[in-house]
Amino acid sequence: MANPHDTAVEQVLATPVQFMKKVGPRRAELFARLDLHTARDVLFFFPRDYQDLTDVRPIAGLEDGLLVSVLACVEEVELRETGTGRSILGVLVREGEDFLRAIWFNQPYMQHRLLPGQQVLLSGKARLRGMQWEMAHPRVQTIDTSDGLPEGRRLPVYRLTEGLHQGQVRRVVESALQVYGGAVEEIFSEEFLVQHQLLPIHEALHEIHFPTSSEALQRARHRFIYQELLLLQLALVLRRNVRADLGTAPRLPVDAKIDARIRRRFPFELTEGQEAAVGEIAADMKQACPMNRLLQGDVGSGKTVVALYATLLAVAHRHQVAIMAPTEVLARQHARVLGDFLQASQVRTALLSGGIPVAQRRLVLDAMAAGDVDVVIGTHALIQSGAEFARLGLVIIDEQHKFGVQQRAVLRQAETQPHYLVMTATPIPRTVTMALFGDLDVSTMRDFPPGRQPVHTYLGTPQQRAQWWEFFRNKLREGRQGYVITPLIEESEQWNVTSLAEAFEELANGELEAFRLGLIHGRQAASEKDRVMADFHSGKIQVLVGTTVVEVGVDVPNATLMTIEGAERFGLAQLHQLRGRIVRGAYPGYCCLFAEPASEEARQRLEAFAASTDGFELAEIDFRLRGPGDLFGTRQHGLPPLRVADLVRDADLVEVARQDAITLLAKDPGMVDPALALLRKRVLLRYGKVLDLGDVG
Ligand code: ADP
Ligand code: MG
Repeated sequence: MANPHDTAVEQVLATPVQFMKKVGPRRAELFARLDLHTARDVLFFFPRDYQDLTDVRPIAGLEDGLLVSVLACVEEVELRETGTGRSILGVLVREGEDFLRAIWFNQPYMQHRLLPGQQVLLSGKARLRGMQWEMAHPRVQTIDTSDGLPEGRRLPVYRLTEGLHQGQVRRVVESALQVYGGAVEEIFSEEFLVQHQLLPIHEALHEIHFPTSSEALQRARHRFIYQELLLLQLALVLRRNVRADLGTAPRLPVDAKIDARIRRRFPFELTEGQEAAVGEIAADMKQACPMNRLLQGDVGSGKTVVALYATLLAVAHRHQVAIMAPTEVLARQHARVLGDFLQASQVRTALLSGGIPVAQRRLVLDAMAAGDVDVVIGTHALIQSGAEFARLGLVIIDEQHKFGVQQRAVLRQAETQPHYLVMTATPIPRTVTMALFGDLDVSTMRDFPPGRQPVHTYLGTPQQRAQWWEFFRNKLREGRQGYVITPLIEESEQWNVTSLAEAFEELANGELEAFRLGLIHGRQAASEKDRVMADFHSGKIQVLVGTTVVEVGVDVPNATLMTIEGAERFGLAQLHQLRGRIVRGAYPGYCCLFAEPASEEARQRLEAFAASTDGFELAEIDFRLRGPGDLFGTRQHGLPPLRVADLVRDADLVEVARQDAITLLAKDPGMVDPALALLRKRVLLRYGKVLDLGDVG
């Protein structure tokens, strides 16, 4: 692998910034602040934007009333006060022999942006006043070049840090391209470049920094975006393949007897979606290659039952199952639901929760290690810490979008590997599924159990509050229950708890005075939360006032009412999750949002929410409006951030890159073809560690 040329190239590109032309120790420190340490870093420090100089005209070629840009040098700045608070700023700029006067009324501070000798780009409507060209209130850009217009009439704009100017960075990059650019290796073969119509690396590097035309810039960007996405996809697909080689899982086939025994536990027929998912899971679990499957379905589509099928299949083969939930509340609920389904069965279940005493926890851990318990339910953290299983056959991770890529692999065993089933809380946008869960096989359930009630959603105006509460009370009197949700203020949880308590008091002494209210939030002790949830389940509490603690998975079928305050603070996926709480029973749900949308995007989001109950559709809309956000950002998933690609903007390319990665690895699973050597090296450098690809080759 390591040929001498290879390392020589690496060394050249590893030249410290400090030793590069036009940089010294002092400036190197500034570059370091931008995370630029080597020549390679500088070459791949792409502009964040470009100054467009394409409509620049010479002053001599101006036309009256036409919107244009003029590149000229500031000659004179003159500020005239014309009365109280009034002023006229006149700035004379020169281009060769020609002059133009820019004027600003009552904006004296503009004089500080226009210093004599500076190159500026003025954009606006030019007017001929007598013999002189004038522009009133033009847009001003400082142009950090004295060399006139660049070839492509576009200047790169780099991210800066204090003490560093555009011009300096530009010159360093330009010189880096000349001196070191040639050393950058092309990771694609000639054939690959042609086949995928990619700009070769040296051309692309030059064009992305100093574009010669807008087409060339587009092609350069395309190359780097594609490259980044292809690397990610190769890594994810490799990981999927690698896992198959890492170890074998127990074969857990289903037969007619087992199947009948499992189904006897369900008081209903499975939906088509559930049948399909169960089929795919059973097909995976009979293989010695560990299952790695993502189960996607909307809130209420019945994922739990599918998980239970997989669980009982493993237990039927005398293997243990670990079920991990993201929160205590959910873990307890799973334990309760499971308990209901498994009444009078021989399946031994145990809950590992933060609330249980140390001694009892010890007992559970011992039972797990001894194989005396079949199914363990707990939060991720609890199961992970020191958990040993005698015969772990299946790991189920619920509400996946809170867990990172790395955490998926933690429960490895020495001998056999467990099968993995990962479940999402809500539908994930298609692009995100491919980009971040690309190492998993996916089962998608698009239907719902029969008899699902509709849910009505309203965007309430302040004037409609009284009316809504009247309605809310009527439904409570009919025997229904409800939620009141207030947003989580992340900056200050303390404030949040206070504001929640205030909201609670206000309701308890106001609109909901006649009813039994309960309070729930993240700061409560587990035992307190348990008590509140139990009281809500039993109906002792009629209205649960809380934060998004109730967001995930909470299942009280009789609760059909929901008021969401400060709804503009929630993302669409989250709103959808919340609303999912009130479509679980035999009665229609009613959800009213009160919001003060501060932006157009927030308004669109709320309207989309009121208009649709399809979680898959809402996920796509949210993704387009807000991008991957916190929920689906690469960082959340433990992957290095994408540098040039943007999952929303480049959604099409994600798909192309995924297909290309699959095709490429189908032909050459280990990427052993010498033509792929550099590409392979890049993939491993970037993702080898986080995705645990160490064993590849
Ligand atoms: P989620 O996908 O949100 O986890 P659940 O698994 O909690 O959904 O299912 C929602 C509700 O629908 C539960 O009360 C569950 O018992 C019920 N359910 C699931 N599958 C079926 C089915 N095939 N027929 C009828 N009810 C079902
Ligand atoms: Mg669920």
